[in-house]
Formats: sequence, structure tokens, C-alpha cells
Amino acid sequence: MLGQFMQLLDIGANLTHESFRHDLDAVLQRAHAQGVSRMMVTGASLDGSTHALALARAHPDTLFATAGVHPHHAIDYDDATDGHLRELALDPSVRAIGETGLDYNRNYSPQDVQLRVFERQLQIAVDARKPLFLHQRDAHKDFIALLRRYRDKVPAAVVHCFTDSGDALRDYLALDCHIGITGWICDERRGTHLRELVRGIPANRLMIETDAPYLLPRTVRPQPAHRRNEPMYLRHICEEIARDRGEPVEITAENSTATAEAFFGLPARDAPQQ
Ligand SMILES: [Zn+2]
Repeated sequence: MLGQFMQLLDIGANLTHESFRHDLDAVLQRAHAQGVSRMMVTGASLDGSTHALALARAHPDTLFATAGVHPHHAIDYDDATDGHLRELALDPSVRAIGETGLDYNRNYSPQDVQLRVFERQLQIAVDARKPLFLHQRDAHKDFIALLRRYRDKVPAAVVHCFTDSGDALRDYLALDCHIGITGWICDERRGTHLRELVRGIPANRLMIETDAPYLLPRTVRPQPAHRRNEPMYLRHICEEIARDRGEPVEITAENSTATAEAFFGLPARDAPQQ
């Protein structure tokens, strides 16, 4: 079990999702009760990023925001979007640019548009001097080629919800990227390779996330009837990762929180509250 004062940090929670509209305060209370004291609210569209920032402002020291446009929505990205994102990027509550990246799994936006919009957001991170919150699915080759050209110009970059192969993982670590692991690792149909790979991620590069309301860990018992994932289940994900890494869960918790604090520039909060 986690120590009484252990603090977890969920680096990816889609709390602007409509499924949280009616009970966000209860969701946050349940998270706190499980030691999940801080959450990064993912911005995946211009409206979503604006909403994420509003949530962060309404819950200071608990919620923080990212600002970006997901590759699924790349087709909607125009000069006005770019201008608004640049304004959001300068806000102190916006701690990273993203999620941005490439997703060739669904190709909701054409690949050439995804590439162009990804590069525009890479440039925003460079100009705002903020870390990147990155999404990559079935697009590793194009993704790493573009990221390589910008990596030295941004302070840090996390490949969130990493689900790819060992080769891809080695490429990201060689580029000094951070890795975000979700409850995908609990999926016995498609995530078992991650249980081995997670052992090879240095503690100062490993961060944990729920991607709520998506990706409810399949090993959570009992499974909630509503099937909605929540930040409180980060504790379960942390326990699973600790077992896979062969280390006490307190160590995984402490290290992943310290890594996330450094990545997002947040104050340390692992001591008992006075
Ligand atoms: Zn994503």
C-alpha cells in the first residue's frame, strides 16, 4: 500500500470531457483520497485547451493545463488557432504544449496536414520555452524524424500514453524524451509487451497517467459499472508498474512524482502537509 503521505501526479487527465461535467468535484475528492493530489488537464483542441486552463485556474495547486491540438483535429487548425494557442502557451498555468503529434491509426486528419500542424505546435513550444506533451500512434517514423529536428530547442518532451515497441522506446530515450505510461499496461490483449519494457525506463524519465475518462485499467477490481476511468485509478496503475519493475510501490510513486514535478516545473509536495 502507498504511504499515508504519498502524493501521485496524473500527467494526463481529460477532465474537460463531458462525462466529468456533473461530478468533477467528487472525482477530485476521490482522487485525493487515493493520494492523487495533482493532475495535468489535457488540452486536445483549442476549445478544450481554453476549458483546461479555466479548470486549472478554478483549482489552483491541484489542476494544471496543457494547450494543444490533437492530431485528430489537425484539419481544424488555422492561423487563428495558432494565434490563440500562442496566447494560452504563455499562461503560467499552462505547463506544456500538447497534446500534439501524429496519429496514423485513424487518420481523422490527412497525414500531410497532421505533419504541418505538429510542426507548428513544435514551434510554439520553442517560442514559449515550454515542454511538449506528445501523442504518437502508428506514426513513429515520421514522428521521430520531425521531433529530432526540434528536440534540442525545447526544454523537455514526454511521449504520453506510450504503447509502441522496444525499438521506438529506445529511440525516444536516446532523444532524452520522457515516457508516460497509462493503464494500457493492464490490458492483457494488447499491453503485455509494456510490462517488460517498463523495466527499461529510467526512473527519472518515467511518468504515469490515467488518460481518463479513456483506458479504464482492465485489472481494476471491481470494475465500475459506468466504465469511466478516473484519476483515482492512477494508484492502481502505479501499483501494477511497481510490480513489473520489481520495486516497492512507494519508490515508483515517489520517483514518478518527482520526475513529473521537475518536468512540469511544479513545487515538490512529497512531505506531510502542515
Ligand atoms: Zn493521446
